[in-house]
Amino acid sequence: MKKGKKNDGASRSRQPATKVVTGGRDPASNHGFVNPPVYHASTVLYPSADDFAARRSRYQYGRRGTPTTEALEQALAELEGPHCTGVALLPSGLAAISAALFSVLKAGDHVLVTDSAYGPTRNFCDQVLARFGIGTTYFDPLVGSAIAELIQPNTKAVYLESPGSLSFEMQDVPAIAKAAHAKHAVVLLDNTWATPLYFRALDFGVDLSIQAGTKYIGGHADVMIGTVSANGTTAADLKRTVYLNGWCVGPDDVYLSQRGLRTLAVRLDRHYQSGIAVAKWLEQRPEILRLLHPALPSHPGHAIWQRDFTGACGLFSVVFKPVPQQAVHAFLDALELFGIGASWGGYESLAIPFDCAGVRTATHWAPGGPAVRLHIGLEAVEDLIADLEDGFAAMAAAARV
Ligand SMILES: *Cc1c(COP(=O)(O)O)cnc(C)c1O
Repeated sequence: MKKGKKNDGASRSRQPATKVVTGGRDPASNHGFVNPPVYHASTVLYPSADDFAARRSRYQYGRRGTPTTEALEQALAELEGPHCTGVALLPSGLAAISAALFSVLKAGDHVLVTDSAYGPTRNFCDQVLARFGIGTTYFDPLVGSAIAELIQPNTKAVYLESPGSLSFEMQDVPAIAKAAHAKHAVVLLDNTWATPLYFRALDFGVDLSIQAGTKYIGGHADVMIGTVSANGTTAADLKRTVYLNGWCVGPDDVYLSQRGLRTLAVRLDRHYQSGIAVAKWLEQRPEILRLLHPALPSHPGHAIWQRDFTGACGLFSVVFKPVPQQAVHAFLDALELFGIGASWGGYESLAIPFDCAGVRTATHWAPGGPAVRLHIGLEAVEDLIADLEDGFAAMAAAARV
C-alpha cells in the first residue's frame, strides 16, 4: 500500500505478515483514516432515473456489497495469492461450507466427502443435499490418489478437510486434486485449521477454499463469519450462488473480522509456538498414549504437513491411556485456564472431550483411549502447563476412586 494509493498487483508478492496489515485498506479515499469505514447500508441512491434504469453506480444495493465487505474480500484475496479470483463472505463457517457446495452441485450429482469432515458438514450433506437428490459418499481421509477409484460419472465435487479438526489426519491435497481434476470434479477444502497464512490451498489444486472466519480470522470469540475463496474455475458460480440466495454478512461482523485479520500473523505464530511447546510437554507425560498434532514428527501425516504447510495453529488432540471417562471429565473440570466449549481460534485456551466413533462411516475410529481436543490460546505456556498438571492430578485422584 503506497501512500494514497490503492493496493495493486505488486503487493501480491509481499509476505503474508505484511498482507494482513495492508490488505483491503485505502486511507487516501477515506480522509486519511487508517481503517475502512463501516457502511451500514441497504439503499444506494442514484443521481437520476436514467442512471437507475441503467444501474450506473459503483454499488447497487447493500446486499450486493459495500466498501466494507469489499475491503475484507480484497484482503483475503491477496492472502490467497494469484489463483484467487473471487471471495465470498457468509454469516458463519457452516454457511460458507453450504454455499460452496451449493455453488458446484445440482440435482442428480454426487459428492465425495472426507470421513474426517467437521460434523455439521456431514449433517448438511446427509440432511440437506440429500433432499435435493445429491448423493454423498464418505471416504478415508488417507485415500490419496486412489480417490480416482471412488469417482463416479456424476461425481462433481470432492470435499476435503486437512487436517481433520478433531482427528487430525493429513490429506494429500495435491494428489487428490490431480485425480479429481482428471475426472472433472471440483475440489473443496475446509482450510480453517491452517488459514491461508500456513496453507495457500489454491496453489495446491483446491478450487474452493473455505474458512470458518469465526475461528482465527475473528480471533476473539466475538464474531461468526465464513469465507470462501475461489479460483477462475469456480468464482463466477460461487458469487452468483451467494447473490441469488440473498446471503450477506452484517457490516459490524465484517469489520470485526477485518480487525482480527490485522493481527492474524502474530497471533497464529504465538498459537503455533505455544501449541508445539504444550504438545511436546504432553507427549512426555505417562498419562498420554499419543498426540494428534501434524507438526510433531511422531504424527503419521507429518511428512505431508512439512511438504505443504508453513505452520500450525494452536489446535490439536491428545489420546489418554485408557481411564474411565469420569477421570477425563475430572481432568477437564480441574482446568482453570482451559474453558470447556465449542469453537476455537480465539485468544483463549479451550478443552473438550470427543469421540468420533459415532460419526465415522468410511473408517474406524479406535484411538486406543479417551480423546480430548485442546486449543492453545495466547496465555503464557508455563501457566498452561501448570494448569494441565493440576488436571492430571485430578484425573489420577478420580481414577483411584
Ligand atoms: C467451527 C468450524 C466450522 C464452522 O464454523 P462456524 O462459524 O461455527 O459455523 C467449520 N469447519 C471447521 C473445521 C470448524 O472448526
